[in-house]
Amino acid sequence: MMNSRTIISLPAVNAPPRDRHGRPLHDLRISVMDRCNFRCPYCMPESTYGEHFAFLRNDERLSFDEIERLCRLAASLGVSKLRLTGGEPLLRPRLAELVARLRRIEGITDLAMTTNGVLLARQAFGLRDAGLDRVTVSLDTLDPALFHRMSGGHGELAPVLEGIAAAHAAGFPSGVKLNTVVQRGVNEHTIAALVERFRGSGIVLRFIEYMDVGNRNDWNPDAVVPSREVIAGIDARWPLQALPPKYPGEVATRYRFRDGAGEIGVISSISEPFCGSCSRARLSSEGTLYTCLFATHGTDLRTALRDGSSDEAVRERLRQVWLRRADRYSEERAKRREVSRRKIEMHYIGG
Ligand code: SAM
Repeated sequence: MMNSRTIISLPAVNAPPRDRHGRPLHDLRISVMDRCNFRCPYCMPESTYGEHFAFLRNDERLSFDEIERLCRLAASLGVSKLRLTGGEPLLRPRLAELVARLRRIEGITDLAMTTNGVLLARQAFGLRDAGLDRVTVSLDTLDPALFHRMSGGHGELAPVLEGIAAAHAAGFPSGVKLNTVVQRGVNEHTIAALVERFRGSGIVLRFIEYMDVGNRNDWNPDAVVPSREVIAGIDARWPLQALPPKYPGEVATRYRFRDGAGEIGVISSISEPFCGSCSRARLSSEGTLYTCLFATHGTDLRTALRDGSSDEAVRERLRQVWLRRADRYSEERAKRREVSRRKIEMHYIGG
């Protein structure tokens, strides 16, 4: 029987939500632009994203006001890290303005961007001044001809290297990283040249296992080079030592060069899935929220942002999505029958 001292447990609506596997919501990745200036065959192949492909109209993409509002509400639910991505984020006009607005949101402690780097040289200093903490540039090889081929015939290596140099010179507070997606028989033989060029530079290289994102890249497990193989190859030439994670759930596994020339990382979502610690949600350019990179469907938030819904109502919608989240695709990958699964394309929700 209850008396006046009985503690009644009420649903903790203001407590940061945990999903069905007990995972908090800490990171939000925002695709600020669905278009890209590359056509990498493993991400946005020309055969699908040719000149007749219907990308979003400007008014279909979330505006800066809408992105800022959603990020503010997400921060109130526990999000502290934001990453701007795409498509290609630097194709979004006046991106630094958005960065400055997101920088001012209470609770955001880490503001990052992933880019192909083509337009970075002229924007790096402005982005740093606006408050961007760090930049990740995708760079799959230093071989100019292979680079051109891996970008689907749309990219040149030189401007990307200029972009990396400008970002390094700008001195982002949390530095510059490079993402290299390794594909068997495509660029694995160019790993050593990347390591040689960047070790000791202060720029951190990260090798990523080729993933089965989307439906259009004809992914095949034989094309995956397991991270342990990448590490063994580098260690044979430049001895490495494993480093402990900087924080629980860190996506990359880090190693330091034993001679003191900095560190590298690997991201092993195929050989060692890390769904158990995944605290990431992804927002598409048109305002659909996905709770897994390999999702088959998402939740429309744009309608609520545009129909006069209150902050409380939009926040509650976000919270409910996270409370219902049960995804752990990468851990279940081996058991799945891919034939029946239509996944969201990576350019749409970002990397
Ligand atoms: N355009 C930007 C860029 O190039 O960095 C941002 C978007 S891109 C989708 C983000 C990252 O996803 C890139 O580093 C890209 O290499 C990576 N990516 C795309 N498809 C991938 C796949 N199938 N497996 C692993 N990484 C992939």
